Amino acid sequence: MNLIILGPPGAGKGTQSKRLEDKFSMIQLSTGDMLRAEVASGSELGKQAKVIMDAGDFISDEIIINMISSRVDHDDCKDGFILDGFPRTVPQAEALNKMLAEKSLKLNHVIELTVDDEAMVERICGRFTCSNCGSGYHDSFQKPATDGVCDSCGSTDFTRRADDNAETVRNRLTTYHEQTAPIATFYGDQGILKQVDGMAAIDDVTQKLENILG
Ligand code: ADP
Ligand code: ZN
Repeated sequence: MNLIILGPPGAGKGTQSKRLEDKFSMIQLSTGDMLRAEVASGSELGKQAKVIMDAGDFISDEIIINMISSRVDHDDCKDGFILDGFPRTVPQAEALNKMLAEKSLKLNHVIELTVDDEAMVERICGRFTCSNCGSGYHDSFQKPATDGVCDSCGSTDFTRRADDNAETVRNRLTTYHEQTAPIATFYGDQGILKQVDGMAAIDDVTQKLENILG
């Protein structure tokens, strides 16, 4: 089963993808994480991406599509993948459809987490991640059981993203509404869009997603 989780920054895409990964043996493909990993590995793609990112430019649709294309060929995607952070524009969604069709793969569901923008600022500003295993936490909504210790791996190292501040969040929300929200209509027209209330508590959102995936 292959999915897209759609929603503005802070909607809960990363949080819910991790849970679905564990439950349905699917793989979460976060394009941001993948790009950072390519750069770190020094691959050909990583070298190209680094030059572009260091110049402050956006990575082209073609590079991202090629990256996902080779990633979904890996064995660990055979039970399904969850795309988180991609596609971001209608042209990217069109390119994705074409690429998947060439591989005889399809998207089973596109799940949009619907949320209030104002609440997203609070969520983003409070979020942090385990540096070792990537588990996500929040200062108020999802604290580790023991303060300062990762529930999943026991690490005491955490990181916050530099762009997780109120000002950039507002910019990212505007960009989302202008460029990314239209892809909900694109997938709605294909009959594979499901909307889930992302303002509900984390466990309730997970329950709704599990109901959809069966
Ligand atoms: P995204 O991947 O969509 O940007 P995250 O999954 O990183 O969003 O969630 C952003 C922050 O909000 C995290 O700190 C997470 O713990 C918290 N969060 C996620 N879903 C909810 C929810 N339903 N209610 C409250 N807080 C949430
Ligand atoms: Zn951890």
